[in-house]
Amino acid sequence: MGLEEKLPSGFLLTTVEQAAGWVRKSSMFPATFGLACCAIEMMTTGAGRYDLARFGMEVFRGSPRQADLMIVAGRVSQKMAPVLRQVYDQMPNPKWVISMGVCASSGGMFNNYAIVQGVDHIVPVDIYLPGCPPRPEMLMDAILKLHEKVRTSKIGVNAEAAAREAEEAALKA
Ligand code: SF4
Repeated sequence: MGLEEKLPSGFLLTTVEQAAGWVRKSSMFPATFGLACCAIEMMTTGAGRYDLARFGMEVFRGSPRQADLMIVAGRVSQKMAPVLRQVYDQMPNPKWVISMGVCASSGGMFNNYAIVQGVDHIVPVDIYLPGCPPRPEMLMDAILKLHEKVRTSKIGVNAEAAAREAEEAALKA
């Protein structure tokens, strides 16, 4: 009798997915990408007082090709939007996005022509973090919630990002 026949259906795959999820969430590399005042709190979160290293991710990468997490920290101007999308496109899959602060999530107080009214118009967002600015404790809470999402996600590219990219490709076609 083969190994697969002795095990309940899907047992091996589930175990591999759990292991992969644990590895991914334990070793995330945020891209160095700050846009406005929220970025000051993001930098503080990476400093010694808050010790992000406890969660396997204190090093912010200078190259998007070495990063799998984008923290959109601050309002996104229309001029910056294509750059933000380019940085996101340069990050390898699977990748995740935290929208940090009310300005990144909805435009916030900047309800005008110069500011994108929510970064989810530009890139898919996994976690929306409220506040102006969110304190480091709030960002760490968002990161831990994202870790849980990553830990329980399927192997392969980020499902939401894949769905969004497929949607965009269909719109362009
Ligand atoms: Fe600045 Fe507040 Fe907007 Fe963050 S949410 S970018 S702190 S105005």
